[in-house]
Amino acid sequence: MGDPLKENDLKRTKCRTAILTLLENAPVPITAEGIYQALSGEMHVSLSTVYRTVSTLAEKGLVLKNIGVDGITYYQLNNHHHCHYLICTQCNALLPIDGCPLHTLEENLSATTGYHITGHHLEFFGLCPKCASKHHDSR
Ligand SMILES: [Zn+2]
Ligand SMILES: [Zn+2]
Repeated sequence: MGDPLKENDLKRTKCRTAILTLLENAPVPITAEGIYQALSGEMHVSLSTVYRTVSTLAEKGLVLKNIGVDGITYYQLNNHHHCHYLICTQCNALLPIDGCPLHTLEENLSATTGYHITGHHLEFFGLCPKCASKHHDSR
């Protein structure tokens, strides 16, 4: 596999590398503050640097940005293992969905439009079983 930073004309900085590595190993999407907390233990970095770095990575399509129903932005690596989420609108629980159903669609879109597609958003909203049953009970 190539170097994703080099391929996107981004200089390899300590912060970019650390964020990509962190997101690569994260089982769930993390907020910029979560990234900051995880990194500040091992390197000297400020919250604003983290914000700036993740948004650059998101612009280049290396990182996927999801805005949760809580209004908070979560980041995850945009690789072939990225996943999409079912979000409970009641308790904000995030349930990852295995695999991405959009790759074929992306390839077709890219072929028909000539776009170089760098990412996509897909989210499902609903009530988790727990909240759905509570909803039911209160009636
Ligand atoms: Zn819920
Ligand atoms: Zn996807």
